[in-house]
Formats: sequence, C-alpha cells, structure tokens
Amino acid sequence: MLALSAEGILPKVDYAIFADTGWEPAAVYKHLDRLETEIARSAGIPVLRVSSGNIRDDALDPNHRFASMPLYILNQDGKQGMTRRQCTGEYKIKPIKKKVRELLGYPYPQRIPKDVLVEQWIGISTDEFHRAKDADVRYMKNVHPLIEMGWSRSDCTRYLASLGLADTPKSSCLGCPFHGNAQWRHIRDTSPEEWQDVVEFDAAIRKGNARANATGNKLLGQAFLHRSRVPLSEAPIDHVTAAERAALQDELTDVYELEHGVAGGCSPWACRGEVDAPAQDDFGLTS
Ligand code: SF4
Repeated sequence: MLALSAEGILPKVDYAIFADTGWEPAAVYKHLDRLETEIARSAGIPVLRVSSGNIRDDALDPNHRFASMPLYILNQDGKQGMTRRQCTGEYKIKPIKKKVRELLGYPYPQRIPKDVLVEQWIGISTDEFHRAKDADVRYMKNVHPLIEMGWSRSDCTRYLASLGLADTPKSSCLGCPFHGNAQWRHIRDTSPEEWQDVVEFDAAIRKGNARANATGNKLLGQAFLHRSRVPLSEAPIDHVTAAERAALQDELTDVYELEHGVAGGCSPWACRGEVDAPAQDDFGLTS
C-alpha cells in the first residue's frame, strides 16, 4: 500500500506507521529501511516506527508486566490449552493508536472531538476479506484499499516483484507461536543465530512468563512455541505428525495451516481469533 500510494496509484497517505515489537527478523528491519529510503522518502511519506517495548525482553523480565503471547500449553493433567493472545493489542494496536492521537493533536487522555476522524488503511487482500474489521474507536475509520482494488495476494506479490521487492519478508515476531512449520524451518535453515534465539526463548518460557512466576502466579503446566507442545529444538517442523493430523479433525485448522502458520497471524484489526484449544485466561490460572 505504501508503494501504491508513493506511485500515485492510490492517494498519498500522510504517514505510514510500523509497530515494532522489538523482535522482528533482521530481514524485516532491513526491508523496512529499504522501503523508507527507496520508496517513501522520495514520495514525501514519513515512515513512523512506534513501539510499546520489546516483547522478548518483557516476557523474560520478572519486573515487567507482560501481555501474553498465544503460547501452547500442556497442563499437568495432559490437557492442552493456549494462553490468551494479548500481545497484538499491547505491542501493535496500542502504540499505533497512541501515535495517531498524537498526530491528531489529542494525546491520551484528551477527548477527541466528534468531527475528528483519521482514515486508517489496512493491507488485507481479497483472499482474506473476512478479516476486514472496523476500528474499535470513533476517531478511526478502517479502509481496505487492496480489497477495493480487487487485489489478491498474488496481485500484490506480482506488483512487489515489478518494483524489485519480490523478496518482501513476512512481518511477525521471530518467535511467534502462530508460525507454521515452513516459517520455523526458514529460520532454522537460513539464520542460525535467529534459530538459536528462538530455541533459547522457547526453553526460557517453559514455566510461563517471568513476571507471573515472580508474582506467584505460576503456570502449573508447561508452555511451548510449537503447537506439538515439545521443545522447539525437537519439534517436528519437517513434517506433520500422525498425532497432529488426527487432532485436525477436532480443530478449525488444516494441514495448510500447520505448514504455513495461522492464517492472518498477527495483524492489528484483522485478528483471526483463537487458534485451536480453548484459551486460558493467563499463566497460572490452569491446573
Ligand atoms: S507476531 Fe505473534 S507474538 Fe508477535 S505480537 Fe503478533 S501474535 Fe504476538
């Protein structure tokens, strides 16, 4: 959308905002720099980077409140669960809203007058139109230009390739539990340091986030990044196991999703909702 706007195919936007969780793959930060210098700057579109902190550091810091990631839980009785996803709201939606208010001249907690409205573009293509949602605040109106143009995902990739951006990486936290096997393999096979990083993180959250443990709200089961609920370093990321295939019958998911990740993953205002097992309120509330 930024390129379409910069090229004049779509109207010129006032700003492009990137919500940084602090734990994107290096390729994403590199790509963002490229977008900024090669596309946005010459078109006069400021790229604003906003952040609520570093999600990886926060999860491991006993002194920091942590908005939980959607982790796969194995309870003591063998039942499976998931922790509620709060991270998209905390690390993406919150800093974007904060910046928008600031740009409008009404930083929180100031009241925004009724006639002040910002148009917010969300890059959802026609194949995922069901993810298009309205904003949850009166001063924002969500607009979906790709859907209005009738563009599918392949139209987008063709367009990006025509700009020399065929290698556009997918944005998400390096250790997002919504990754499918293909994404985990990609990290393992192309970036040993990043693989080491996610394997270490996976081991570090086995007993839940540091804050919950420090405050006595212990997780009574175990938490994992991979849906198989085994340590990431041993998880079956090269193939779908028979157990996973059998479990599909009870879940709103399919083999495609196991390979490519949760459809929609982590997009502000376009969440897909919970993944498989019922969400648990938070760490420590399970038995
Ligand atoms: S990418 Fe995953 S871990 Fe990161 S904020 Fe989104 S849902 Fe949470």
